[in-house]
This record gives sequence, structure tokens and C-alpha cells, in this order.
Amino acid sequence: MKLLVLGGTTEAAALAAGLAGRPGLDVTLSLAGRTSHPKPAAVPTRVGGFGGVEGLRAWIAAHGIVAVIDATHPFAAVISRNAAEACAALRRPLLALRRPPWRAGLGDRWIEVGTMPQAVAALGDTPRRVFLTVGRLELAPFSAAPQHRYWVRTIEPIGDALAAPEVVAIQARGPFEEESERAFLESQRIEVVVTKNSGGAATYGKIAAARALGVPVVMVARPAKPEVPSLESVEEALVWIEAHRTTPTLRGVST
Ligand code: NAP
Repeated sequence: MKLLVLGGTTEAAALAAGLAGRPGLDVTLSLAGRTSHPKPAAVPTRVGGFGGVEGLRAWIAAHGIVAVIDATHPFAAVISRNAAEACAALRRPLLALRRPPWRAGLGDRWIEVGTMPQAVAALGDTPRRVFLTVGRLELAPFSAAPQHRYWVRTIEPIGDALAAPEVVAIQARGPFEEESERAFLESQRIEVVVTKNSGGAATYGKIAAARALGVPVVMVARPAKPEVPSLESVEEALVWIEAHRTTPTLRGVST
């Protein structure tokens, strides 16, 4: 049974590891190619876009894929939509692995916004010391607010993505623990954190640290993803795959 796992997340890597070596399963992990040195995966990996919904549909058909697992990032909305359309057209089962969003709790000082330009506006006119953890590809809107001093943490170098006079670039890959995040926020006297509502444990440390220090967090809400069958954990997805591989639903479309 051939499975395509759309990845680029911790969960996709964990799912691939959980599926690797299982008899009767032939799993391909797909990465967009945004990071130049992705962590080695436990299953064969392909890298790069498919060429829109038509390209994805052709790839699934040509490779005899029986089911697709969309384990992409909560903010990767285009590929999820493409997967939903391609799987619907080909009548292939699609399962989304979607980690729950973070929710504000007691002591959190969140400013919830819907878009990155709204996050920029939420910083205000007064210069502030800003910890920016929105990803390299989302930095450009902050060039409109060059009065702030930015500490920008990304996996890849930011190059000239953020045009502001005071930028401290930090290259690092999670997970990040609360204790080290707290030490960082304190030592740099960070006044506000900006983040996407990615969910998950790997990058929650900054949220907990900000709460402990009373630092406000500008929280960018997730984009809409297509309505498809979804599970929240890798363990549940493994059970779903195991259950479905023995059902006629998947055997019926097997090539
Ligand atoms: P996106 O806006 O939904 O996708 C843009 C295009 O990138 C897609 O149309 C597709 O190109 C290609 N693509 C995306 N994910 C792919 C995958 N897993 N395999 C092959 N092609 C893929 O996604 P994005 O926000 O650029 O994110 C790209 C990847 O980075 C995703 O896999 C996501 O899980 C990961 N990621 C994203 C974020 C984030 O904040 N956006 C954070 C961490 C990790 P074609 O149309 O040519 O097929």
C-alpha cells in the first residue's frame, strides 16, 4: 500500500518514523524544500512542489498512491487545499494531521490578530524590543515598522527579508524549552513576542516564558484549512492507517 505523507513538521517526521519498516507499507514523505538541511527522514523523501493541484493529482496517480496524509504546518494552507482537491478528484482517502492551536490561559497577555500586517500594527508607533518568531517568509511586512528593534529567530538565514536598521538575526531550530526562552527574553529585555499560533510543544516554551514574565504576545491566528477528516496526534494517525489498510476502502483503490 503506497502512502504519501505531506510533511515539513515535527509530526510528519514522527509519523514517517512510526511507519518506517512496516511490512506492506510503502511510504513517501514530501517536503516543500524550504529548509536547506532538513533532518534526515525515516522513509524515502521527495523534495519540491508538485506544480499546483493538477501536478499533485498527476503525481498521486502516476505513483499509485492509495491514501494521502496531510501533515503539513497549520499555516501551509495552499498545499492542504491542493491535497483536498486532488484527493477528491481521484477518490483517494485523505487524512489531515492537525495539531490543536494554543489557547490563552490565566496570565497570558495575548493580542490576537488575523494577519501579519495586523501584527505589525499591533506593535504600535512607539519603538519596542520585539522577539519575532514568525518564519523567514513572513518577515517582509515588519519592514513597514522600522522603529522597532527586532530579534528574529529563523531556521534559515533571513538575508534581506526584513528591512529595518536594528535587527539581531538568530539562526536556530527548535525545540526550545521554557527555561532557555525565559533567559533569552530577560537578557534581551524583550517587550513583546510575535508568533503564529502554530500549536504543538516544540515552540511553546516562548509562550510559557512570556506568560511567566508578563510579556505580551501578538498571536497571529491560523488560516482556514479545508474540511477533511482530521486527527490531532501521530498516535491516532498511526491507528487510522493501520485500520484503513485492512479495509476495502484502501485495498479497493490499491494498484
Ligand atoms: P503553502 O503555502 O501551503 O504551499 C505553497 C506551495 O509549496 C504549494 O503550493 C506546493 O507547491 C509547495 N508545498 C508546500 N508543502 C509541500 C510539501 N509538503 N511537499 C511538496 N510541496 C509542498 O506552504 P508553506 O507555508 O510555503 O509551507 C511549505 C512547507 O513548509 C510545508 O510543508 C509546511 O508543512 C512547512 N512549514 C510551513 C510553515 C509555515 O509557517 N507556513 C512552518 C513550518 C513548516 P506546488 O503547488 O508546486 O505543489
